[in-house]
Amino acid sequence: MNAVNLREDYHIHSNYNDHSSPDLTIANVVRRAEKLNLHTIAFTEHVGKTSRWMPEYLSEIELLSKGSSLKIIPGFEAKILADGSINCPEEYSKDYFLIASFHTLYNDKDIWLNALRIAINNPNVDVIGHIAPERTFKMELCEVQDLASLIVENRKIIEINAKYHRPPREWTVLFKQFGVKFHLGSDAHRLEEIGNFENISDLISLVLKHDPA
Ligand SMILES: [Zn+2]
Ligand SMILES: [Zn+2]
Repeated sequence: MNAVNLREDYHIHSNYNDHSSPDLTIANVVRRAEKLNLHTIAFTEHVGKTSRWMPEYLSEIELLSKGSSLKIIPGFEAKILADGSINCPEEYSKDYFLIASFHTLYNDKDIWLNALRIAINNPNVDVIGHIAPERTFKMELCEVQDLASLIVENRKIIEINAKYHRPPREWTVLFKQFGVKFHLGSDAHRLEEIGNFENISDLISLVLKHDPA
């Protein structure tokens, strides 16, 4: 099964970071998702090795989950570092839903590809977020195919990201051919962005095409 679900948003931020809309509280996100009739949401706040707010964030999510009909997944989004390690304290990456994403330009294909491969091999990583090559280099078809195999082998999910309109179309088609699993992420930093996948309707059609009903 390769079908993505439009009622599931696996990438939502909150006001626990300093650059999201101040009204993006955990409670408001849950309320908004309920109003939109979503079934599943994942909170994936930007975390770093020195972050200290996680206990409060997680207990707030847990409390709100109890009173909601939604399936609410507590998690984090963490940066893939140049050596391929994930910028998240081990106790959180191990126990919670984790999106690993590039947030730094390495301007070096070898560093980028090596870091990505290590991240895909990392058992604590659940999802590779908004994946695309950097502008300064191109990936050969066989390299993308190798990545697809590695992703399937390690059972990672590839996110179709609305904020960045990623992965690239050709990658999405190829990943699908290899049997990569996808899900949707709005990458919402504002309430209005939650569950809004209009921007990636073309990528969603590619993924859903020819799938048995
Ligand atoms: Zn990101
Ligand atoms: Zn994000």
